[in-house]
Amino acid sequence: MTTDAWFGSASRWQEAVIERVVHQTPRVTSIFLRAALGPYEAGQHVDVRLTAPDGYQAERSYSIASAPGANGIELAIERLEGGEVSPYFHEVARPGDTFEIRGPIGGHFVWRSSDGGPLLLIGGGSGVVPLMAMVRYRATAGWDRMTLLVYSARTWEELIFRDELVTVRASEPNFELVVTTTRETRHRSHDFDRRLDRSLLREILTRWDQAPRHVYVCGSNAFVEAVTSALVLEGLPPQIIRAERYGGMA
Ligand SMILES: Cc1cc2nc3c(=O)[nH]c(=O)nc-3n(C[C@H](O)[C@H](O)[C@H](O)COP(=O)(O)OP(=O)(O)OC[C@H]3O[C@@H](n4cnc5c(N)ncnc54)[C@H](O)[C@@H]3O)c2cc1C
Repeated sequence: MTTDAWFGSASRWQEAVIERVVHQTPRVTSIFLRAALGPYEAGQHVDVRLTAPDGYQAERSYSIASAPGANGIELAIERLEGGEVSPYFHEVARPGDTFEIRGPIGGHFVWRSSDGGPLLLIGGGSGVVPLMAMVRYRATAGWDRMTLLVYSARTWEELIFRDELVTVRASEPNFELVVTTTRETRHRSHDFDRRLDRSLLREILTRWDQAPRHVYVCGSNAFVEAVTSALVLEGLPPQIIRAERYGGMA
């Protein structure tokens, strides 16, 4: 048995074609692409590989923002100053361009509607991307159990998928969205404008008044570390908490 046959198509590099490039926020661009990935689940990611004309290659991971079963794949990529890969998607990538992709990857950070709820999703910055796949999947699967998305970003303008999330919130009584902005005062009266620490999490969870069955936390290393330890100190069982770390400190 070959390695590829053993691991399946997820381990094979294949061509992805960019269909659309949409600037979501000043620092985040969505890349809509077509690639022959197998079926994927909410929370999974892909590996992306860019090859320079001189043959130099760079690989990075990006979460899938689109819901399982969606027509096409959406990645939402934050531009990191001085980064090797992310600036390409902001400055160079155009519809029709191709790059390599492999996946879907990741089993621990997956949510299926059969897993049940209530569901607590906590994202920092671009860490909201796999959580967005869960929010979208929730809608396409007709799953209407209590869900809270706590989303921390620098400013209201920097909230990725903001309009879509506000629309879901307005149309779905069991979906709650709490935003906390760390670099400007809150935009809505029921939001917050400070870092997501233990006391803020306690305030949010007390207001929500649900015992989550599954918790998904995603963002930078520092964000995930702070949030997961605060949740455990607040009495949530560690075994219900799943975390995805993007690296970096911010
Ligand atoms: C499972 C997973 C899913 C992810 N999903 C997403 C996603 O959906 N969206 C998203 O935006 N990101 C995501 N990431 C992060 C992504 O993989 C990249 O790490 C990110 O895009 C940065 O890559 P880059 O090549 O642009 O920057 P890099 O070249 O890796 O650099 C990162 C930062 O470090 C700095 N740096 C680099 N080299 C040095 C050096 N020698 N000294 C000092 N500083 C340095 C750069 O200036 C930059 O700010 C994910 C990561 C993981 C692990």
